[in-house]
Amino acid sequence: MLRPAPYPLSHNRMLLQACSNKQTGAVNRALSKMRIPVQAYRTYLFNLRSYADFQNLAFPRDISTAFGAALTELIVQGYILGATKSRKTRQAASRIAFSKLPSADDVVFSWDLASAKAVDSFTSSAFAIAQTLSTELRDSLQALAKDAFSQGLPFMQFKEQLAMQGFDTGNPYHLRTNFDTAANTAFAAGHWEQIKNNLELFPYLRYVALGNDRTCEICGPLDGLIYPHDDPFWDTWAPLNHWNCHCSVEQLTANEAEGSPKLNNPTDVMPKPQVGFDSNPAKLHYLPDTVRTSNPKLTDAKEARLPSVDAGAAWDKDQKINTNGMSKQELLDTYHSKIIEFHNKYEAPDKSVCLIVPTKEVLGKFDSNKYTLQDLRRRFQYLNYLPDIIQNPDEIWDRNINNKPRPHFIKVLDKNVVLVFEAVDGHYEYFNLMLLDQIDKIRNGILRYKK
Ligand SMILES: [Zn+2]
Repeated sequence: MLRPAPYPLSHNRMLLQACSNKQTGAVNRALSKMRIPVQAYRTYLFNLRSYADFQNLAFPRDISTAFGAALTELIVQGYILGATKSRKTRQAASRIAFSKLPSADDVVFSWDLASAKAVDSFTSSAFAIAQTLSTELRDSLQALAKDAFSQGLPFMQFKEQLAMQGFDTGNPYHLRTNFDTAANTAFAAGHWEQIKNNLELFPYLRYVALGNDRTCEICGPLDGLIYPHDDPFWDTWAPLNHWNCHCSVEQLTANEAEGSPKLNNPTDVMPKPQVGFDSNPAKLHYLPDTVRTSNPKLTDAKEARLPSVDAGAAWDKDQKINTNGMSKQELLDTYHSKIIEFHNKYEAPDKSVCLIVPTKEVLGKFDSNKYTLQDLRRRFQYLNYLPDIIQNPDEIWDRNINNKPRPHFIKVLDKNVVLVFEAVDGHYEYFNLMLLDQIDKIRNGILRYKK
């Protein structure tokens, strides 16, 4: 019996992955260049004498300049890598070892007008983004100081715990996300330019989801889809489709494309690109706006891919449970009954959605001996807050754990207590408690919402 040829894991995919890895390396180098200006600004902050000094905070000029320069460098490198890649790819895919993939530095690249214009356009938005984020950094530091002052926090203590959120070397999410996206957008633009030169031989494009994107909710379903290069499909879904997207396209001959079941065959539910990514950035030559402004403020839990809960059911926030003196069995019983109570309270009338489902796994979550009596007593005091954290989180981080999307909802309850709600498949899976100064540890992945 004749079997259809298996969907090939092409050399192109491997080469695209190698390009993507190369870019990740370049992003890491750019991040390490940011250490010095970030550290210098931190030292400057630490030498301030009073809250009053924060009123006249100097603009972080060195951070802004270094940020813009690093973005520009990534853009140029990414563009050259994208524009020189496919030439090598098509003719020599089976021959070149990955290690021989040219780096952007050792390729002699001849700039034509189209390329120069593209890079110029990206570069001007790079400095605008650097300026915006640096201004926001200063504003947020001033706001933090104002807040701490009004709460009567001693100045020394405030300085000790001061974080330059999104810029700190331990958790540089603004820097990393912008670097990553700039490098990949420029790569896509260079690649697109190259594609245009080969259309006679290779008139079709196949979406190639790379890295975690092969399981991510947006790019996973797009992986492998094939359309003619001029199909309107690409006006919406050409990579990139979200922050930190590393996806790409590969060119196919008419022969390769026309035999495939993936040709002109959209998936049942086409995923929606993130805001700012719903076009073809490679054609339009713009960088997505900054992380903060392009992450839409979510208006309800549904947009966070969670079923919505009844917003009318206000929770009595003062209702902390007194767990002092409870035995382990009493604690576990309390947990079980709360989970069941939430389930009954928040289940939709048609039973189609419920946020908290009392499965065996969920109910047995804290049975193991790794949870001490003290831990459970401390944690379960806050059980009543679980529904509230989903309705009114301070931040939502999209994270991928064991190849599954697992958004983390963060809510600061008071100066010392942070509640973390973790969801899998749109349902409560786990909750945790931590101190405010540990919060950066869980700020990982893509920031989808910030209050
Ligand atoms: Zn992607």
